[in-house]
Amino acid sequence: MLSLGLPPYAVREPEKMTGIRVSHTVQEGGAFDVVCGELLRGGFALTWTHESEAAPHLTEEELEEEKQQEKRKTSKARSKTPFFCEKCGGKAWAKDTARLVCGQCWMPMHTEADVTRSRQNAGQDQMPTRKSA
Ligand SMILES: [Zn+2]
Repeated sequence: MLSLGLPPYAVREPEKMTGIRVSHTVQEGGAFDVVCGELLRGGFALTWTHESEAAPHLTEEELEEEKQQEKRKTSKARSKTPFFCEKCGGKAWAKDTARLVCGQCWMPMHTEADVTRSRQNAGQDQMPTRKSA
């Protein structure tokens, strides 16, 4: 973003470049400013419009509420990871960091991610997987 001349800023703390909600400004004389200027001078025009690019102005209470909602969403998602017992097919839901044992079989329970990983390690995956950079 910086090298493109679009310095980012956190909406809640504009002196910082990272945060839960971020936006950016167009640096005058920056790469984006220069290239976009050339493009527009060449007659380029968008044929559609965007509702509002500006970050909504929120009160302190609204910002705090948003922060709390984000926290609740994250903790709820983390506690809803399904675990499976490979022997009896039993299911349980817990945080993704939990280590569960099936109460019927006394076998360790696995998440979908665990099963995928062990298949890949065993060389049994049927679909070629994309390597993450
Ligand atoms: Zn079981």
